[in-house]
Amino acid sequence: MSKSNYLQKNSFIDLNEPELIKLMQDVGGESFRINQINNWIYNNYVRSWDEMKNIPSSLISQLKKKIKLHSLDLIDITGVKDDPIRKFLFKTKKGNRIESVLMHDKKRTTICVSSQSGCILDCNFCATASMGFLENLSSTEILDQVLYLASYSDSKITNIVYMGMGEPLMNYRSVMESGTLLKTKMGLGTKRITISTAGIASKIRQIADDNYGFKLAISLNASNENTRNKIMTITKKYSLLKIMKAAEYYFNKTKKLVTFEYVLLKDVNASVSDAQNLMNLLKNFPCKLNVIPYNEIDGDYKRPDIENIESFLSSLDAAPFMVTVRWSNGTDINAGCGQLAVKDTI
Ligand code: SAH
Repeated sequence: MSKSNYLQKNSFIDLNEPELIKLMQDVGGESFRINQINNWIYNNYVRSWDEMKNIPSSLISQLKKKIKLHSLDLIDITGVKDDPIRKFLFKTKKGNRIESVLMHDKKRTTICVSSQSGCILDCNFCATASMGFLENLSSTEILDQVLYLASYSDSKITNIVYMGMGEPLMNYRSVMESGTLLKTKMGLGTKRITISTAGIASKIRQIADDNYGFKLAISLNASNENTRNKIMTITKKYSLLKIMKAAEYYFNKTKKLVTFEYVLLKDVNASVSDAQNLMNLLKNFPCKLNVIPYNEIDGDYKRPDIENIESFLSSLDAAPFMVTVRWSNGTDINAGCGQLAVKDTI
């Protein structure tokens, strides 16, 4: 592809600088229009060419003929305007479906993005795994989820979490590129962007070396190899020990705290002795722990009852690290952690 052959690109937001310049020349627009258009897209989150008020309509109609604005097609929204949680369904260029979630609470407005359609891993408690793996998203397909959801949000987006469909570290380049675009184009600080991984140890080391500055969360979900092997088959490739070594490498290199996520599954990993093992595993490691009571899907796993959850948490009272609990909202619309899955084809 020649460096300015924009016609082969999917959408305007996919274009690099030489392509933007070539496009503008071809439609007879002055180069300052590029900045104006970018301002509409990345600061005002417009979704159509027609909303760009300071661009002459003749130029708009030329641009429309050349290229579409966004890379994703919005198919459906679950939830209404003032709901604290809304779920968005998109179709990718290749025709696969993905979901993203917009969440408001008192202090924060968070967008949860997908990095893959389906997932390359098969953690057997997670709904996304049932879709199989369909595709890795491009960096702009990840960015576009944020642009779309931001346009539907009345409050400013404060945080981005890569906790939707997919394993971000198995789509490393696009994920890191998209995070960089969120920073450079949308002005989001790297500390507000969290990448969550099921524990791809080699890539955790790579993140530490590349030092992009994003936050890292590791879905631990078990305190011993045996239990983890049963629920997350990736443990056969990257043992708990390897993941902990990689996390240690990450901390030593970046000096940033890792957040460990721990999904609480009834009769699997939620006993008091599991909590004690977890504390022993993490106690000498600078980290935070986020406990996630399981969001049930059609399957064998259940959320522990409330007394069980409370006794698990109180066994961690003496932990030298911070413990938080994520009571996922949006489970009524299947928008909670691990509930994202698209069952039908379009
Ligand atoms: N693949 C990445 C990101 C997607 S999953 C990862 O594993 O981290 C995001 C988080 O949701 C993970 O911590 C995962 O363990 C958790 N999760 C998956 N299914 C869940 C469910 N049904 N209920 C609650 N949390 C779930």
